[in-house]
Amino acid sequence: MRRIMSNRPALPPEIARRRTFAIISHPDAGKTTLTEKFLLFGGAIQMAGQVRAKGEARRTRSDFMQMEKDRGISVSASAMSFDYKNFRYNLVDTPGHSDFSEDTYRTLTAVDAAIMVIDGAKGVESQTQKLFEVCRLRDLPILTFCNKMDRESREVFEIIDEIQENLAIDVAPASWPIGVGRDFLGAYDMLNDRLELMDRADRNKVAESIKLDGLDDPKLADHIPTDLLAKLREEIEMARELLPAFDRQSFLEGHMTPIWFGSAINSFGVKELMDGIGNYGPEPQFANAAERQIAPDEKKVQGFVFKVQANMDPKHRDRVAFVRLISGHFERGMKLTHVRSKKPMAISNPVLFLAADRELAEEAWGGDIIGIPNHGQLRIGDALTEGEMLHITGIPSFAPELLQSVRATDPMKGKHLEKALMQFAEEGAAKVFKPMIGSGFIVGVVGALQFEVLASRIELEYGIPVRFEPSQFTSARWVLGKEEATEKLVNANKQHMATDNDGDPVFLTRLQWDIDRVVRDYPDVTLSATKELM
Ligand code: GDP
Repeated sequence: MRRIMSNRPALPPEIARRRTFAIISHPDAGKTTLTEKFLLFGGAIQMAGQVRAKGEARRTRSDFMQMEKDRGISVSASAMSFDYKNFRYNLVDTPGHSDFSEDTYRTLTAVDAAIMVIDGAKGVESQTQKLFEVCRLRDLPILTFCNKMDRESREVFEIIDEIQENLAIDVAPASWPIGVGRDFLGAYDMLNDRLELMDRADRNKVAESIKLDGLDDPKLADHIPTDLLAKLREEIEMARELLPAFDRQSFLEGHMTPIWFGSAINSFGVKELMDGIGNYGPEPQFANAAERQIAPDEKKVQGFVFKVQANMDPKHRDRVAFVRLISGHFERGMKLTHVRSKKPMAISNPVLFLAADRELAEEAWGGDIIGIPNHGQLRIGDALTEGEMLHITGIPSFAPELLQSVRATDPMKGKHLEKALMQFAEEGAAKVFKPMIGSGFIVGVVGALQFEVLASRIELEYGIPVRFEPSQFTSARWVLGKEEATEKLVNANKQHMATDNDGDPVFLTRLQWDIDRVVRDYPDVTLSATKELM
């Protein structure tokens, strides 16, 4: 997605009211709690505690898989839609664990903005920083929520300084906290001159909001003890002097982040944050295709697959392709062109993830995320259009950083294992390489935990117990170049060669030296650490 150019016509109202975003955070900062409050205020769930409820009683809503329930980590991204005031929000869940960064990267290609949640006591943590860098690669606008202000936290100026220093982004306070920890009363809304008071008695209640006439309004004294009020006035005065004021353009370009202080568990600050994305945007953005840019105001329906999830429902063994619609008004039953196969595809049972349950989508608009159940035709990076041959760019596959060989503990199940592996490869859960010499498969991942997840999914979903074993190879590179040149490399280095699940040639390496040697001896081929999926 790219920034809207200012001379474009206005978007159709239904598209203009879409807000499609993700939440990035370090584990434990409060992403799940915040998600839950969004859904609660968006009317998508009736009761807090439905997202990742403990125990049997309520099924997890945003986490689909057994693994997630067992481990409490969000392994795969899913999308949830809800309405709040005039806006339709599409929240795309990003996997929280650092081992799933490729999935996260792709998820972030499908959103227009991100909310960065930080823990007020901990500030910018490692995973926040990493995810932030990914957002920065794409100039995504970022809204910051500083959570857990009801606990002892750091000084506000210190938190803001840390964000500015570590992430090299301007921070504009959208609210200013009043008191901290046990004394936390609420916040002063710096964008709208309101006083927001937290209700400690009811955690799911939206805060009381009092309209003020600036910081000198005598009403402030009715609600805030003298010492805290003096501190608040002094701090805001300093903040206005030292920190930049919120600038929408700068925010939309990714140079500035507005920060809200709140407490997700007490529902405090959540509404202001939602209003923030709603009012300041961004609206659905452009996407890039190899042929041209695709604008959200185009009449025709166009979209791309950013995620494929297999076996979401073990009973049906279906696959769902998550499609980000870029433009147009989609209606159920529509025939779209699947660009990679050049075939028409009737989209008869698309799914909208209205948090509570999967629901048949009768219609959707540019900006929305729909799920399309399919039997494997739809792959990550695929475009769906109304006939135009567009190839979406910027959805890469990354070379894995860890390789292991895998085999079924029961040799009779080898053939089934191949099928399972191919499915996971297409889902993007792992890279699967078939070496040219010998039998078996080599599986590549980014983080070690993924091997464990894979092993348990292969067993759970396919009934095949497997063993992962160390491989002599440590990395892989896609081989790019003219056919003659690649063939020469392949023929002389069979012991290093494999094919990926698309049948493309891959050079498996043991040491950097292997790569250096190819670069030296085969100037006509390129070894690439990424591959564009399109
Ligand atoms: P995630 O790992 O980022 O999804 O974090 P969770 O939403 O699961 O929250 C981690 C822990 O922090 C949980 O025990 C939450 O109950 C707690 N928590 C979340 N928000 C707040 C808050 O505003 N204040 C306090 N005191 N605890 C919170």
